[in-house]
Amino acid sequence: MKLQITCPECNRQSLIDSGKVPLGKIKTNCNTCRKQFFIDKGQNVNCCLVQPSADSASEAEQGSWKIDRPEFEGIEYDLNGLGGLIRSGMVTGGTRVLAPNANQYREASKVKELRKFFEQKEKRDG
Ligand SMILES: [Zn+2]
Repeated sequence: MKLQITCPECNRQSLIDSGKVPLGKIKTNCNTCRKQFFIDKGQNVNCCLVQPSADSASEAEQGSWKIDRPEFEGIEYDLNGLGGLIRSGMVTGGTRVLAPNANQYREASKVKELRKFFEQKEKRDG
């Protein structure tokens, strides 16, 4: 669950993990106009909880993927970025990757979200 915070001064909206926000009145600063204001998660003061919508892209498509290779250490890719690495041959079927919704690395060829990129590469390479 995310908490959407709206600055009362400039109406800038930002999303943060609701779990990081304590209940009750807390003070925060707007990143844009620097205005200091209060939010209250329980009372919906300058903020409201938002449900991730069911028709939005899946977490695997939006989240960040990690690659278990020293040259990619510390870098996170979205699905399309990782797909580009697969098509260019920098990531092969045996490269271990960590999906956004997974808790352990798996070989890229065994991850269903990545299969289409290998197919595209095979088609292109003939
Ligand atoms: Zn503001």
